[in-house]
Amino acid sequence: MLANEVRPGPNRYITGEGVLFDLPEYLNDFDQVAVITGDQSFDVFQTYYPHPFDYPVYRYDGSSSYENAQELADKIKHADVLLAIGGGRVADTAKITAERMGAELIVIPTLVSNCAPFTPVIVAYYPDHTICKIDYAKKGAYMTIVDTRFLLATPVDYFIAGIADTLAKYYEMEAIVRTMAEEDKTALVRLGFQSAKLIKELLIADAIQAVTDLEAGRLTPAFARITDAIIALAGEVGGFAVEFGRTSGAHALHDGLSYLSETHSVLHGNKVAYCIWVQLAYTNDFAVIEELRPFYEALHLPMKLKDLHVSRVDRAYFAPVLTYAVKEEETFVLIDPTITPEKVFRAIEAVEAL
Ligand SMILES: [Zn+2]
Repeated sequence: MLANEVRPGPNRYITGEGVLFDLPEYLNDFDQVAVITGDQSFDVFQTYYPHPFDYPVYRYDGSSSYENAQELADKIKHADVLLAIGGGRVADTAKITAERMGAELIVIPTLVSNCAPFTPVIVAYYPDHTICKIDYAKKGAYMTIVDTRFLLATPVDYFIAGIADTLAKYYEMEAIVRTMAEEDKTALVRLGFQSAKLIKELLIADAIQAVTDLEAGRLTPAFARITDAIIALAGEVGGFAVEFGRTSGAHALHDGLSYLSETHSVLHGNKVAYCIWVQLAYTNDFAVIEELRPFYEALHLPMKLKDLHVSRVDRAYFAPVLTYAVKEEETFVLIDPTITPEKVFRAIEAVEAL
């Protein structure tokens, strides 16, 4: 995608209590509907959805791969709209299938954990579940339906991980923006950054309350604000600021941590939470870490390697993690062109010493 090409989100973003009940009206414009979903997602949907639902239903295989997306297209054969009912992988699979079939796409997220229902970004994996590439759908979704009452079905741990992953948007973009000359910050980069700032403010102000509300099964304005922040506002950061609104230090280290198999069972956003602290230590922002500490404590976010099940903290053990994190084609380098494995390791040690 080009640095000056803006991809703000779906054609229509519909959010609010009970908006899913209007689905039959939205589908009036289409002749042939097909559904792509997962087992759990579809159960949750059927429990909530009040109308008859007799469209053909196809299960994805959990991989979010081009291969599975094509298989689904071959099975579906004809449809003018696909309904993607599920989490990020279902949405991403359906983006590829819809594009290959020339069909429109309606995304119905079944949990609040990332901005996949909103953006044209596709995280594509190989059928064996290893990462393939980050891709962009040529078109945005026709519609994204965010029913805040339905989304009270979100598992609490996924919601908290989504909060942490979304919080990273601000810290990762801020670290890039602080190195930019004023004149290089276009109006669109500034809008992306304002979105990141607003996300941080909303999360700090409302996320703890929203978690309590979710646990109690209570639909509140705070839960609705955090839902829209995680799904929609998060998508606007990169949607407007493009390459300057990308991930930077925290996600590069997160990806490097995948070399430590003991971290594999930890949710993506929880690992990112820890990596935000290492990035802040790297840029010497220890005061910011202390500002964040009460928030992390309240949500039980990882603050030390032991929280990621890592018990060895020595340079040799971390060698593959560090080599990956500082790679030229990775994103830690965006905040310091003179990055070295030693500097990142010192930041990890500094966080351990806090
Ligand atoms: Zn992430």
